[in-house]
Amino acid sequence: MPHEHPASPTSTTTASPAPASPALASAVLGMTADQYADACIAAGTHGARPLALERYANLFRRGIIDSPHLPVTLPPIVRTHTSESPEGTVLKFTQSVPVTVDGTRAPRPTTLASAPGEIGSGLGLPVLQPSITSLETESVLIPMVGRKQMRSYTLCLSSQVGCAMGCGFCQTAQMGLVRSLTAAEIISQYFAAAHLVTRPDPAATIANIVFMGMGEPLDNYDQVLQAVRVLTDRRGPSLAMNKITISTVGRLDGIARLAEQVRHEGWHRLSLAISLNAPNDAVRSQIMPINRAMPMADLRRAMTDWPFYCGKHLCIEYVLIPGINDAPHHAEQLAAYYKGDDYDGPAELDGHPIPRYAGPQLRGLINIIPYNPRHNSPWLAPTEEAAEAFMDRLKARTVYCKRRRTKGRDTMAACGQLGNPEVTRKAVAASLR
Ligand code: SF4
Repeated sequence: MPHEHPASPTSTTTASPAPASPALASAVLGMTADQYADACIAAGTHGARPLALERYANLFRRGIIDSPHLPVTLPPIVRTHTSESPEGTVLKFTQSVPVTVDGTRAPRPTTLASAPGEIGSGLGLPVLQPSITSLETESVLIPMVGRKQMRSYTLCLSSQVGCAMGCGFCQTAQMGLVRSLTAAEIISQYFAAAHLVTRPDPAATIANIVFMGMGEPLDNYDQVLQAVRVLTDRRGPSLAMNKITISTVGRLDGIARLAEQVRHEGWHRLSLAISLNAPNDAVRSQIMPINRAMPMADLRRAMTDWPFYCGKHLCIEYVLIPGINDAPHHAEQLAAYYKGDDYDGPAELDGHPIPRYAGPQLRGLINIIPYNPRHNSPWLAPTEEAAEAFMDRLKARTVYCKRRRTKGRDTMAACGQLGNPEVTRKAVAASLR
């Protein structure tokens, strides 16, 4: 953990201001540089604006968290797990966060979040169980080997503890929504990955951020967007907007709101991933409850309406689950959904109709993700042959698709496997009786 050196610019230039307030110490990670400087000036205790900006830069660039003028309160790292993959060591880490947003034990809630609500409705919902004294965020550093053998990490962040969306294949769904994370708690995961955990490959930097950990990011819209503002702040983490991906279950209201944001200068290159996972409404409604309210035709329209800038495309995720969505006719239906008017396949296959969709081909990459079994999963992982056969059928219809390599499955760090099985909505409900 880096500490402020006595001769550092921060210590030499901040001799006069008074120490930071505890409130600012826990909130600063969720602030942009300008917001932090404004807060310092408003408080009148932290020196002039240039000094505040310098402290902020030192925090994110050098990982200094014990400056007397900007001490930072971070959720402690409570566990790390590693597992090997062909591209390097996967590292999952968990941080302890309070049961409620403000750290106090709130009065007993009268409702539990059990279904998709309004955007952002998850923030601040206190769901308590007497025996649960803290919650955990989960984050994963995934090693990548790029062109010219360049090594880097993709950091998978959680936006909530648990999730209300109820996807049948997902471990996090088994928890239900416990609560949404604040922007500061989201950035704390980045900060820990960048400065606090020992990365298995110290030479590899964090090149990409994906909101694909616990939670539905668009259910915590305002805090996730604020986290993106911080991550891309050039006086802070300074990550490029096109290195950040928000992944959604397909919340149409959230996608429309995000599309408006992406039209703003500076946001054009934000990446969007859609968790599709099914070739037709019957299958999707079976494994993803949101599809009953927001069916695939509407989702397709949202995808074709998405504002594309700078040659970007969508990432369309398809978790391949044996016996659920991996049959030959499923691949044909998925190709028809993807290609729209350009689909040139059969009208039916193996007795199953292949529905037609009016409209342009989707501008996206279909990312085939072999299912990673959750705890007590009714399904196994697909075989290599099944995954390849599904891919081959898509390619035969000239669908742009790739296969995601499985990483972290044995430590429950892979896609769809995050979450603490002991902090479930069921356990919480029992504690409220
Ligand atoms: S897949 Fe994503 S949206 Fe669905 S339950 Fe899991 S975390 Fe929530």
